Amino acid sequence: GSTIGILGGGQLGRMLAVAASRLGLRCHIFEPGAQPPAGDVAAATTTAGYDDGPALEAFARQVDIVTYEFENIPTAALDRIEALCPIRPGREALRVSQDRLTEKTWLTGLGLKTAPFAEITDLPSLTAALQDMGTPAILKTRRFGYDGKGQVRIDRPDQAAAALEELQGAPAILEGFVPFTAEISVIAARGADGQVAAFDPGENTHRDGILRTTKVPATLPKRGVTDAVLIAANILNALDYVGVLGVELFVTPQGLIVNEIAPRVHNSGHWTQNGCTVDQFEQHIRAIAGWPLGDGTRFADVTMENLIGDEIDRTAELARDPACALHLYGKRDTKPGRKMGHVNRVARP
Ligand code: ATP
Ligand code: MG
Ligand code: MG
Repeated sequence: GSTIGILGGGQLGRMLAVAASRLGLRCHIFEPGAQPPAGDVAAATTTAGYDDGPALEAFARQVDIVTYEFENIPTAALDRIEALCPIRPGREALRVSQDRLTEKTWLTGLGLKTAPFAEITDLPSLTAALQDMGTPAILKTRRFGYDGKGQVRIDRPDQAAAALEELQGAPAILEGFVPFTAEISVIAARGADGQVAAFDPGENTHRDGILRTTKVPATLPKRGVTDAVLIAANILNALDYVGVLGVELFVTPQGLIVNEIAPRVHNSGHWTQNGCTVDQFEQHIRAIAGWPLGDGTRFADVTMENLIGDEIDRTAELARDPACALHLYGKRDTKPGRKMGHVNRVARP
């Protein structure tokens, strides 16, 4: 296809549209919010909600393939689109990753390790799960969480009721706390022909639940890189996936544990923009457009740092630093916790 429809007009949609335009492809953004960052660089934008059937159908008719920059798209909207236009990555990836309970159940079914987990419906089920799992543990909403939102850490059993209160009755999951030595993620791709390629794993640090930095190469025990890539390939193949996928992993002395998967390009893959010939955005576009996958071999050491909220004010200083590649999202207003851009610090070894 030559026009790509993107559900979601945030920074990920924007960077996908930039990559697509470099390949001579047009993008059409579908986004409920006004002035989406992706709108500035796309050929067309539809501003409408996911409950607007006619708008969804008009959008689907105008594009050749639909992809997405976030996983929480309502099922009914996906059904409407899919009746008119293929969606890549496919629906199974969305079904699995929209709900933490479904996702962890599916991952353990594949033979992969996750944190211990239990479905929580009320205080008795939480009390029982805490008794089973011990503390610390993390209570999370099953759906719609990102940047650590919808999560409460429980350090003692007597905090159960308050934790449940905080989630305001949302369906929840309890996860045992994984005493990790590091967090890494692997960004991998699978082409329409089943070819699989992975970028080097990056090592991630978070602040206030939000990704702060990703560094490549990651500091990993021997075998770590192979293990991470094999896990990602396992997931991609099991989902018959087409596109780029992010897999977040905990590093422990007992091996890698899968935290979560994201069926899309991922913040922790932004380093690829300045560390590889073909970055995660182009790789995703190549995969969904049916092109061969590109070369994602890493040719530099990179540290990616997110510019969050007021940190966007560091732009002038960073622009003077020859080691820095700046990527700004053109967001109209700055809010605390809002991702405004990122910087890749590049060191050629
Ligand atoms: P994202 O913005 O990456 O989608 P999210 O809101 O979906 O994040 P998680 O990735 O589940 O949230 O958790 C955010 C962070 O909290 C993790 O990167 C990790 O640092 C910590 N964390 C989450 N679950 C656990 C766990 N079971 N054990 C230890 N730490 C955890
Ligand atoms: Mg998440
Ligand atoms: Mg996460």
